[in-house]
Amino acid sequence: MPEFVVVLVEPKYSGNVGAVARSMMNFDVRRLVLVKPACPLDQACYARAMHATGILDSAVTFPTFADATKDLDFLVATSSVEAHTEKYYLRNSIALDKFAGDIAKVDGKVGLVFGREDYGLFNEEIAVCDILVKIPTSDEYPSLNLSHAVTLVLYELYKERHPGRKQRELGRVENDTLHGFFAELLDTIEYPAHKKAQTKIMFRRMMGRAMPSLWEYHTFMGVLSKTLSRLKNKK
Ligand code: SAH
Repeated sequence: MPEFVVVLVEPKYSGNVGAVARSMMNFDVRRLVLVKPACPLDQACYARAMHATGILDSAVTFPTFADATKDLDFLVATSSVEAHTEKYYLRNSIALDKFAGDIAKVDGKVGLVFGREDYGLFNEEIAVCDILVKIPTSDEYPSLNLSHAVTLVLYELYKERHPGRKQRELGRVENDTLHGFFAELLDTIEYPAHKKAQTKIMFRRMMGRAMPSLWEYHTFMGVLSKTLSRLKNKK
């Protein structure tokens, strides 16, 4: 698992720096590095950071980009400006979700480098980074607010570290019972024979997408079995 470090190059607005600190705390990234900030970490900055003032207190400031990045193993430049030809290597970017998946497997200190609110990153800075990442945005207005860009990148990396529960709760027995009941229901209501096979597949696919919990399954089965017994008794 990599250790992520957020590097802000010459940020101009202290509110943005505070908002970045807050997002860092939201997504469990603690190290903030500032390159020649053009704003003081003032009251507005601390106000925007909310519960993440500790990140501002421990932020480290460097006079140059080279100094700030010298102990980092891998550098990730970010920009909304990408190449229109494959041969312009400097601006060949990869999409954020692809990058997040790839970097999760790497160890070491990874610097996530964000540029100035007005000029972004200079070409010389992008040139020494290992990769350029773009967050997909509108062609008409691709450039995000600095703190929003940081938030989206950290969110995507966080999701890779916390993939969530993927286990389906219904086992083979429950699944077979469910589809058995559904088939019985179709028979009982004298559903047209030529449509039966397709409708059963449709229901199987619907349930496959829905991934019901065990609780939902039992509730639904209760309704199905009551329906069936009512229908049968009426015959
Ligand atoms: N006009 C500048 C705006 C910079 S916005 C430019 O287009 O470069 C400030 C920073 O936010 C950028 O330097 C970059 O680090 C980040 N950023 C903004 N939009 C982004 C996007 N769509 N993809 C990746 N990074 C983005």
